[in-house]
Amino acid sequence: MNKQFDKPKIERAVRMILEAIGEDPDRDGLRDTPARVARVYAEIVGGGDTDPRHALRTSFKEDHHEIVLVKDIAFYSMCEHHLLPFFGKAHVGYIPNGKIVGISKLARVVEAFARRPQVQERMTSQIADLIEEMLGAEGVAVVIEGIHTCMTMRGVKKPGATVITSAMRGDFRKRITSRTEIMALIYGKSMSA
Ligand code: ZN
Repeated sequence: MNKQFDKPKIERAVRMILEAIGEDPDRDGLRDTPARVARVYAEIVGGGDTDPRHALRTSFKEDHHEIVLVKDIAFYSMCEHHLLPFFGKAHVGYIPNGKIVGISKLARVVEAFARRPQVQERMTSQIADLIEEMLGAEGVAVVIEGIHTCMTMRGVKKPGATVITSAMRGDFRKRITSRTEIMALIYGKSMSA
């Protein structure tokens, strides 16, 4: 949770929303709702435990210059335009240039960027840019598939619509063969039975 996170202020704000929609915030079912919502907000948009940079601080020297890909990283975030959840899967790949990181760290980067008010487009670029910067990777590819509840449960109400964003850096941007290879790894047949 980041330092400016002010739980009592969220509690007051939620109480006001309840009043504004004509509810009695002191009735049984709602009495603890402001406090509960404040805890939810701390968890889902409180910035997570760490700065995304912390996840990539420890790297290992390794002479591997081929694709490393972590597929299907589940994430939950909050659309900053409507304060409604969007969620889905992130696929994060890179081509190391002498430095690798523990593969779980890539999932931590996704999580850290998801836990704030976001737009999927920016989150995709932020993940790619940070990995490129901190690992000096020869290439970075990030593909995110998101379901936006601001689009499925309200507005145009299109359940099932998925938003796909991608950010390609270095080799994946320059070389179509690298890009084709990573897309085949992401969307091709799974190797497991
Ligand atoms: Zn939205």
